[in-house]
Amino acid sequence: MSSMLTRRAVAGVLAAVAFAAPAAAQQYPARPITVIVPFAAGGPTDVLARLVTQRMGAILGQTMVVENVGGAGGTIGVTRGARAAPDGYVLTVGHLGTHVSNIALYRQLQYNPQTDFEPIAPLGVNPMILVAKRGAPAAVPAFLAHVRQNQARLSYGHAGIGSASHTAALMFHSMTQTKVQDVAYRGTGPALNDLVAGQFDYMIDQALNLLEQIQAGNVVAVGVTTPQRLPQLPNLPTLAESGLTGFDVAIWNTLFAPKGTPPAILERLNQVANQALAEPALRTRLTELAVQIPSSDELRLGAFRDKHAADIARWVPVIREAGATAE
Ligand code: ASP
Repeated sequence: MSSMLTRRAVAGVLAAVAFAAPAAAQQYPARPITVIVPFAAGGPTDVLARLVTQRMGAILGQTMVVENVGGAGGTIGVTRGARAAPDGYVLTVGHLGTHVSNIALYRQLQYNPQTDFEPIAPLGVNPMILVAKRGAPAAVPAFLAHVRQNQARLSYGHAGIGSASHTAALMFHSMTQTKVQDVAYRGTGPALNDLVAGQFDYMIDQALNLLEQIQAGNVVAVGVTTPQRLPQLPNLPTLAESGLTGFDVAIWNTLFAPKGTPPAILERLNQVANQALAEPALRTRLTELAVQIPSSDELRLGAFRDKHAADIARWVPVIREAGATAE
């Protein structure tokens, strides 16, 4: 009799354990999800994150709330994201800056971009454009001559040490062997406002932040950072074709969860990202913004790990060689 009871009790416990994990995942998300954007509102990471997570939230039936936690090249926001409870309610958007360059440039980085995070899905790759304040020479050779001749007087903007805009500028200054004073912002959203106002001379930033201001004539577009020109600006030459041979920087942006997030939640979020990125309206908008949408192969859960590792191997030595370090 008592052994019957024990057996039943054990079976009950086993059943409860077996059902516990799927039940938690099935209820997920039971409340809004915070998405940490480690740069200022209105910048490229913010805009891309909002476009995609708004659709993801609609599919999930819960709001995904973007929280902008800018500063120190994204390290403040990403550190917070790494330390969040791994329950699927605090996610982080990282990019080539926060999750690669920062390894090279910060001696005291408080997070490990690979081991502290689980990639959920890449959100898109965006080429960059070198833009300058109105009145600057637009042709690449003339612009390069301008920078070489006036480097002691010019200044360039970026979103903090290790940010995408800083990384691209490091490459630019190392290839042109120039040294120019920098101005750091919490994101290239506010930096672009200052460039339009003529507060500094140039910046290299993701195309999605710049197209409107270029088209409005508020900044001068000098060149594209990828080997291919942009379909949106077919007359704008690449830096590579204009003398900076081999210049090739494009910025991936990826949604991450903290390490230890239950697999069922990662799978759900990955599936929803796939669904959102398959929607024609979102695809059209992203394409207008020169965002290259990841393929379904790249969007497989976990597929991003290899790309991440390859980029760390490719970029960290180059950036260390080119850059100054931060604490
Ligand atoms: N992605 C940053 C932003 O959204 C800028 C950067 O990394 O350069 O402001």
